[in-house]
Amino acid sequence: MKTKQQIFLGVLLLFFVACAGQKSDKSTQTITIKKQKSIMIDTNKVTKTEDEWQKQLTPDQFYVLRQKGTERPFTGKFWNSNEKGEYHCAACGNYLFSSQTKFDAGCGWPSFSEAAAEKNIISKADSSHGMMRTEVMCAKCGGHLGHVFDDGPKPAGLRYCINSESLTFEKK
Ligand SMILES: [Zn+2]
Repeated sequence: MKTKQQIFLGVLLLFFVACAGQKSDKSTQTITIKKQKSIMIDTNKVTKTEDEWQKQLTPDQFYVLRQKGTERPFTGKFWNSNEKGEYHCAACGNYLFSSQTKFDAGCGWPSFSEAAAEKNIISKADSSHGMMRTEVMCAKCGGHLGHVFDDGPKPAGLRYCINSESLTFEKK
C-alpha cells in the first residue's frame, strides 16, 4: 500500500523526468540549433578562476553557473515572470534571451524559444544523470545556463530550459 509520501515522491519523479525532456529514441542526437537572427554579438571572453567566480557570485549562482547545478523547479525568480525586457548572464552580463521569446512551458524553469543571438550561447552534448541532453552555456564566460530541447514552439521548435539563477533581468 502506498503512503501519501510515496505517491508524492512518485509524482515528483515523473514530473522531473517529463520536464527534463528525456527522449530515448533521440538519445544519440544533439539538437542542431537553427540559424537565428543576430541581434547582438558579444565575442569578448571572460576568464576567471573558480575562486574569483565564487567571490563574485552568490552561492546559488555559483552552484548553477560554475558547478552545472539545477535549481528546483518553481523556485526561481523568473519561471513565472511576464515582464518585458532582456535576460542577461548573471556572471558576465552577456545578453542571452529576450522576453519576446519567453513562453510558459509549464516545467517551472524560465523557457525561451530562441537565443538573443546565436553566437551568445554555446551548446554541448551532456550525458550526465543518465540522460542525453544538450547543455547550453554562456559563450562569453562559459557559465552553465541549462539545457535546450527540441520540443519547443514552432517555427524553430526549440525550448531553452534555463535556470533563473543564471540570469539577471533588465526591464525595457
Ligand atoms: Zn556569461
